Amino acid sequence: MDLGIKGKRGLVCAASKGLGRGCAEALAAAGVDLVINSRTEAEITQTAREIAEKYGVSVVPVAADITAEDGRAKVLAAVGQADILVTNAGGPPPGKWTDWSRDDFIKALDANMLSAIALMQALVPGMMDRGWGRVVNITSQSVRSPIPALGLSNAARTGLTGFVAGMSRQVAPKGVVVNNILPGIHATARADSLDKGVADQAGITMDEARSRRQANIPTGTYGTAEDFGATCAFLCSQHARFIVGQNILLDGGIGNATI
Ligand code: NAP
Repeated sequence: MDLGIKGKRGLVCAASKGLGRGCAEALAAAGVDLVINSRTEAEITQTAREIAEKYGVSVVPVAADITAEDGRAKVLAAVGQADILVTNAGGPPPGKWTDWSRDDFIKALDANMLSAIALMQALVPGMMDRGWGRVVNITSQSVRSPIPALGLSNAARTGLTGFVAGMSRQVAPKGVVVNNILPGIHATARADSLDKGVADQAGITMDEARSRRQANIPTGTYGTAEDFGATCAFLCSQHARFIVGQNILLDGGIGNATI
């Protein structure tokens, strides 16, 4: 399917690997020129080179912490204006609800709520002026169905979801479409680190931890960054014009609900 976005300009945050990279690759495959970001210079430079060579688009790497104001300023300076924005950042650590301090909450809010909002505030007005734009926020299945050990994530991402619910309706009249994708478990470094936590706690191997988790997923497997990127690229396509303020759950069916 032609996504109709060849030649558009996109920013994908937290994209040297994992779900962000999956989104960057799928957009590049559709002909989108990109700025991609993550903190580790060598990794983001290498990823940018690989994507540019594979898809023949321009890919500019920016090493910066997207959760910090100066990091965002560096990224935004490199982008100038964008037609497509994919927000993403690392997820907060697991823990116990009684242990998190105000500082822990502020860090989680900065990473998984306020940085996405600041990026939308910076780039969406230009999209509205030009009459076309697409935003995808990477959140989590924890917005739909809380994960008790990830209370910081449950809280911060739900805040972003509430903001998007209202804001997406305000920008849609100007041709800007904003949606969230909620990943369930996908095979990335983040999933490995969560599996390692479970394995260490239960005294089992990583493989055992993974198979126990997979057994609960109706598809019997984890998702992949490629699956995820394809959905993201569709939501950034011309065909997504009528999908506004939605929360698209990619979880292999584990969330047991009728709607
Ligand atoms: P991942 O494989 O660990 O990749 C994270 C990427 O983000 C890396 O490129 C990392 O590079 C970059 N990054 C992390 N913190 C950053 C920051 N402050 N500024 C800029 N870049 C940053 O993680 P993932 O699995 O793709 O997860 C992406 C998001 O989806 C996370 O918020 C995660 O919690 C959420 N999620 C993932 C799953 C899953 O199963 N994978 C499920 C639900 C939710 P550097 O470290 O070099 O910066």
